[in-house]
Amino acid sequence: MKRRIEVSSDAEGVRIARRVLNELCAHALETQPEECCGLVTGNALHRFRSVHRCRNEMTLRHQSDPMTYPRDGRAAFYMSEIDYLKAQSEAETRGEWVTAVYHSHVDAGAYFSTMDRAYAEHALFPFPDAAHIVLAIWDHKVAALGFFERDAATGAFTGRPVEAGEP
Ligand SMILES: [Zn+2]
Repeated sequence: MKRRIEVSSDAEGVRIARRVLNELCAHALETQPEECCGLVTGNALHRFRSVHRCRNEMTLRHQSDPMTYPRDGRAAFYMSEIDYLKAQSEAETRGEWVTAVYHSHVDAGAYFSTMDRAYAEHALFPFPDAAHIVLAIWDHKVAALGFFERDAATGAFTGRPVEAGEP
């Protein structure tokens, strides 16, 4: 049984530019009570440089097939394939690649849930090397951020805090 991954408070924080964090927070606040999702792209110099919003199609999927998709967009996300392919090709024209996938949790913590893990570890997940950023919305505010990526040695996801600042 897979468990959720929490941010390890004694782990070193990941530095992400305030401008990028502001864009992520704005997206999460605009889409609440639904979860937001999207991509962060960057290059060797600036790993987390550009934010690409993607539509969360989980409510549409839930409405058309509730057996397969028991949750709607308030408790899950399904990143629009059209949107992420477009974002990926736009990024590539600027010499950037997908470095992180982000999404929000509404009235829940900034952990990497069992569903998030299943999605990220799925054989068909398009960005297996990307990190994951989770924004926790509490009381209509961004209360916490978590950063999750695979440990190079073990392949297991670990959680780190996020700090605002140029990397
Ligand atoms: Zn999640």
